[in-house]
Amino acid sequence: MSQSYRDFRDSGIDDVEEVRNKSDIVEVVSQYVKLKKSGKRYTGLCPFHPEKKPSFTVDSTKQLFHCFGCEAGGDIFSFIMKIENIDFSGALQLLADRVGYTLRRDKYGIPSSERKKIKERLYEIHKLAKNFYVKNLYSENAAHIRRYLNSRGFKSTTIKQFELGYAPNRWDGLTNYAINSGFNVHELLQSGLAVESSKTKRGCYDLFRDRIMFPIWDLTGKVIAFGGRTLKEETAKYINSPETMIYKKKKTVYGINKAKEQIVKDDRVIVVEGYTDILALNQEGIKNCVASLGTALTIEQIRLLNRFTNNIITIFDADTAGEAATERGIELLKEYNGNMELYHQYNVNMSAVSLPSGYDPAKFIMEKKDKSIIDLVNKAEPLVDFTLKSILERRDTSTINGKLKTAYDTVNFISDLPSRILQEEYIKKVAQKIDMSEERLFSYLSDVNKKKREQTLTSIRRKTYPKAEVEFDETKISPQTSIELEAISIIIQSEEKPREILFELEKDDFKYPPAREIFTLLKGGIIEEKYNKIYNIIDDLTSTASKKLFNKLLFEERKYENPLIISREIYCRIKEFELRRQISDIKGEMAKHDSKSKTYDELFKKLLNIEEKIRKLKERKIYY
Ligand SMILES: [Zn+2]
Repeated sequence: MSQSYRDFRDSGIDDVEEVRNKSDIVEVVSQYVKLKKSGKRYTGLCPFHPEKKPSFTVDSTKQLFHCFGCEAGGDIFSFIMKIENIDFSGALQLLADRVGYTLRRDKYGIPSSERKKIKERLYEIHKLAKNFYVKNLYSENAAHIRRYLNSRGFKSTTIKQFELGYAPNRWDGLTNYAINSGFNVHELLQSGLAVESSKTKRGCYDLFRDRIMFPIWDLTGKVIAFGGRTLKEETAKYINSPETMIYKKKKTVYGINKAKEQIVKDDRVIVVEGYTDILALNQEGIKNCVASLGTALTIEQIRLLNRFTNNIITIFDADTAGEAATERGIELLKEYNGNMELYHQYNVNMSAVSLPSGYDPAKFIMEKKDKSIIDLVNKAEPLVDFTLKSILERRDTSTINGKLKTAYDTVNFISDLPSRILQEEYIKKVAQKIDMSEERLFSYLSDVNKKKREQTLTSIRRKTYPKAEVEFDETKISPQTSIELEAISIIIQSEEKPREILFELEKDDFKYPPAREIFTLLKGGIIEEKYNKIYNIIDDLTSTASKKLFNKLLFEERKYENPLIISREIYCRIKEFELRRQISDIKGEMAKHDSKSKTYDELFKKLLNIEEKIRKLKERKIYY
């Protein structure tokens, strides 16, 4: 998905709604999938994952589809995008043609002649900015930056080759330079290189200040964005350009323009995390490498790399895998594994290897030189093996308990693999590794599969409300997460009053990141009436997990007999979670102090205060 619904929506053009209204999802899907009516919905065999029993469902009232097997889902546009493997504008065009509708605007919602001009200007301003930053790197003000880069081992040829620059420590450095060179404030804002502000004389200020600048290029070598690194102790060590008409983050991989020829020659690409890793690799003569810039590779990035090779090798830091593996690392790996079907479909061999602990790629490369990297890369294993190994390495299997826990975790992971054959193959491998019988693990596998089907969503519903029609497959869903999902579900389904109550919650009240993101967008979107259809916020969700969750919540039909009462209950429960957490923190603090001390007294007062808040909360629930 490149040009998203958002581009059209923000342009105020209603082509999208026109096409949506003229199309019927059941009719369109029927051209690809044999559908059977079942109740008020239609079901069929999912075109996106292999299956024998139909779990692919289309709802004609909602004009949405959802697969209960692989969790694919969305509206008519996402269906076409997925099945035809085209972007949003392509899907729009295809559906428009189908119903004989002539689009009034191009894929950016702008008349095409104008769009071309705007894009040209955006390329130009990025080129100008790059030259400006580069020039600054060699000025007196940037001596400390040059020293720093040298101390990290980067040679001046490498720095020149990658066109590193420096954004001066002022609010109007680039702004003034660009305006004096004939650009206007509007163009600066459009490029994302400046931020709007009524407090400055110009009406905007530089996004990047006092940062080492890394230009980001497109496939052809044009600068389309920047990443900026600060040397100061700030929470955001790196900031990046926002998305613009010429820069789509999830379609871009850093360094591809310089790496593509070598990737074809070597028939493999090495994927690392950051800019400096790429610099270091190139400095040591390894050129077939790109950086994903911090996240798991997106589907679009994988497709892009797939144009040059089928072999993608990711180098993970030691904290992602191996002895020092962290929960975050494992999550990242699982995210990679979540695209397994796509790898099959595109014949992509995803493999992975981790660095020895204590190293990031740049450091490893600088110290060990090219041969070691090649050796390391040659040791890469298929992604699934690598992930399993990472899970296993974190476990102690010397005790019975440890062994059982390990068995459960690995089987849980294996149960998500897309085919039965793969599942069986890996069960056998694991059985050998942890010295357990295959039969035992297979019986675990069928248990896990069954459990996933049976999992009910929340404790709250279990007690009070009929079971959800759709069941959640998160295996370890915390009570708080359940409530958060419940809150979103009510916001989606009910009308004003219950919504109003739940919108009194703050985004930080939500602890489960996908829930937080969805809540934030819903709150902003519905209150500002920015979205005419709730579904459209899916475009603005950044992670796959959020999108999947949102789609699932949208598709569910939960029955609430009294949404008003439930929303009050949920409001209080969520607030209470936070207060209880504070209480336990304070109690922990208190335990560290002498009960006669002043600190203890103060803590105790705080405690009473919070308990009072909880009491008020409960009263409020009654008298709301
Ligand atoms: Zn499916």
